[in-house]
Amino acid sequence: SAVLEMRQVSKTYGSGTAAVQALDAVDLAVRAGELVAVMGPSGSGKSTLLTIAGSLEEPSEGEVWIEGTALSELSRNKRARLRRRQIGYVFQDFNLLAGLTAVENITMPLELDGMKAKQARREGIRALEEVGLADRAGSFPDELSGGMRQRVAIARALVGDRRLLLADEPTGALDSDSGEGVMRLIRGACRNGAAAVLVTHDAQLAAWADRVVFVRDGRVIDAGPEPEGPESL
Ligand code: ADP
Ligand code: ADP
Repeated sequence: SAVLEMRQVSKTYGSGTAAVQALDAVDLAVRAGELVAVMGPSGSGKSTLLTIAGSLEEPSEGEVWIEGTALSELSRNKRARLRRRQIGYVFQDFNLLAGLTAVENITMPLELDGMKAKQARREGIRALEEVGLADRAGSFPDELSGGMRQRVAIARALVGDRRLLLADEPTGALDSDSGEGVMRLIRGACRNGAAAVLVTHDAQLAAWADRVVFVRDGRVIDAGPEPEGPESL
C-alpha cells in the first residue's frame, strides 16, 4: 500500500508569459518501507515535487494522497495536523526556531499534538542521542554549527514514528561520517515501515535508495523498477 501517492500532479508558478511549469503530470507512488531517491538537473522540479508531496504547497492540477487520504479534501487545520503527525521534513531552509533550544525544537510539535511534556522530552532526548547530540539538548540554534543544526532538524523529522520522510539534500552540511549516519537513520525508519523520498545530486546517497526516480523538465522520465511485493504477485 502506498504511503504517498501523486497522480497527474502539475504545478505552474506565475501566470501569462511569466508562467513556469515546474511539474507536468507527475505520477509517483512510494510504499511503506521504501526509500526512493529523486535525481535530475537543477531546475527540473525536484524541490517542487517534494514540497507538494509534503503538503507545503498545493498542486495546480492532480491529487496527492497520504496513507489513502486525499489532501485536497482536508481542511487547512487537518492538513496542518497531518503535516505535524505524519510527515518528517529535512529541508535546508526548514529552519529551527531560534528562540527554542535543540530539544524544544523537537518536542514542540509533539506537545502541540497533546503529548505530555515529560514524555515529549524523553523522546526528544532519545532522538538527539540518535544523531549524537544529546549533550547539546539545551543549546540554542545559534550556539550550534551548521552540521549540528542539520542533525537537530533530522532528529526532529525522525521523532514520533512519522509515516513519510521527505529529505532535500539532507547531508549537505555534514562530513561523510555524519552523512552516512543520517542515511542509516533514514533507512532504519524505512525498516520500521516509513516511506522516504530523498532529493539528491549525490550518487553515493542515491545508492542507499531502493529505487531512483529521474525527473527532467518537470516530468518523471524514469521511475525505476516496480518494487516487488504482494501487489505484484
Ligand atoms: P537544487 O537543484 O536542489 O535547487 P542547486 O542547483 O542549488 O540545488 O544545487 C545544490 C548543490 O548541488 C550545489 O552545491 C550544486 O553545485 C550541486 N549540483 C548541482 N547540480 C549538480 C549535478 N548535476 N551533479 C552534482 N552536483 C550538482
Ligand atoms: P529543482 O529542485 O530540480 O532545482 P525546482 O522545483 O526548484 O527544481 O524548480 C523547478 C522550476 O520551477 C524552476 O524553473 C524554478 O525556477 C521554478 N520555481 C520553483 N519555485 C518557484 C517559485 N516559488 N516561483 C516561481 N518559480 C519557481
